[in-house]
Amino acid sequence: MRGTRLELRSDSLRHNARRARQLSGGASVFAMVKANGYGHGLVFVAQSLIEDVDGFGVAVLEEAKALRAAGIGAPIMLLEGVFDADELITAAALGCELIVHSEWQLELLESTPLAERVSVWLKLDTGMHRLGLPLAELDAVVSRLQCCPAVSLVGMASHFACADMLGDSMSEAQLQKVRYAAARYEVPYSAANSAAIFRYPHSVGRRVRPGIMLYGSSPFADRSAASLGLQVTQRLSAKIIAINQVPSGDAVGYGGDWRAQRDSRIAVVAIGYGDGYPRHAPSGTALAVKNVDGAWRSATLAGRVSMDMITIDVTDLPLTQVGDEVELWGDQVSVDDVAQSCGTISYELFCRLTGRPEREFL
Ligand SMILES: *Cc1c(COP(=O)(O)O)cnc(C)c1O
Repeated sequence: MRGTRLELRSDSLRHNARRARQLSGGASVFAMVKANGYGHGLVFVAQSLIEDVDGFGVAVLEEAKALRAAGIGAPIMLLEGVFDADELITAAALGCELIVHSEWQLELLESTPLAERVSVWLKLDTGMHRLGLPLAELDAVVSRLQCCPAVSLVGMASHFACADMLGDSMSEAQLQKVRYAAARYEVPYSAANSAAIFRYPHSVGRRVRPGIMLYGSSPFADRSAASLGLQVTQRLSAKIIAINQVPSGDAVGYGGDWRAQRDSRIAVVAIGYGDGYPRHAPSGTALAVKNVDGAWRSATLAGRVSMDMITIDVTDLPLTQVGDEVELWGDQVSVDDVAQSCGTISYELFCRLTGRPEREFL
């Protein structure tokens, strides 16, 4: 066995969902499970959280279909709505709630006869300028929705652009706009992502939409997940398959990017970008090695990430031998720290995992 493993933890997902609920003051909690449950496995996450959340959010209809096929009957919110009339008919048949973010989606609702009623959340552009209808069109859009016989307008939705940022000066204005729209039509609103759940308790509205916090990662660059009361939900590990003595001055790996400053011991680990370990992880990125004495010790990446392997500097870890386990992220090494080293966010590391690491669902 190659020994490249992704351990996924149901208990920790549940703990983090309960944390979201505890912070959300009675709002309903919809777990965002798009992109294969942030790489954790869509159905695994949904089944893990079924008793702890009120519904699920997905980005594409295929994800909703997969949930229904797995027997998940909980409410599902389609975060970008539907993409065409066929999808609309299927979404209605599956009992999905739709976001309506654009004029063309409104036209779809007007022109597609439906056998079932659909619940619609109107997505408003409150300042992020990504998805959403401008507030100036609110009245016109609502009256058109009210004329669609199969449509129930159930709420106003919006998304914060900067809730995770230090010195955020935008969320408050965004919140006021979505609240205004909700009050005008006496419907609930939904705006809060993970960052807002922690930072803006007054923004929770009727429904919160936690994503990253469920997966044990911090939405904030300056706060650790542990300090936010979150538990690690996935652990990526692999085995050492070779150890090389590299004389001072010699280079290691593609491009000879890393050069030994002293006589070094370099271990080869069976994981690479073909498994989803980021190719742009620079030399010096943290990882941990479990030696024969059972102790975890810190080591660092040395040289470029290959498709199936990485090379790490274990010169200061004399006990290290072939077969030792290496943790890429998880309990010893925070995924947020790895992401920071790579100039990205944990979301991307999670989503880019491939099918190759062996999954162990706990
Ligand atoms: C993904 C997503 C979220 C969750 O965001 P996190 O930062 O992961 O908590 C919330 N709302 C919408 C519309 C989303 O697409």
